[in-house]
Amino acid sequence: MGHWEEIEKPWYEVKIVNCSLCGRMIARRLWVVEEPERRVFCGEKCAQLAERREGEA
Ligand SMILES: [Zn+2]
Repeated sequence: MGHWEEIEKPWYEVKIVNCSLCGRMIARRLWVVEEPERRVFCGEKCAQLAERREGEA
């Protein structure tokens, strides 16, 4: 579960955001997961991987 969010602010106003899983810098589009807490990823794949890891832990 999640959705894309566009970063619409000019680049100089945007704080650098890193993917919660792989740490990649995200420039334009975030994959946002709101449950159980808000986290951002560089894409759906990382979100799914993170979910899977948590499932195993
Ligand atoms: Zn990532």
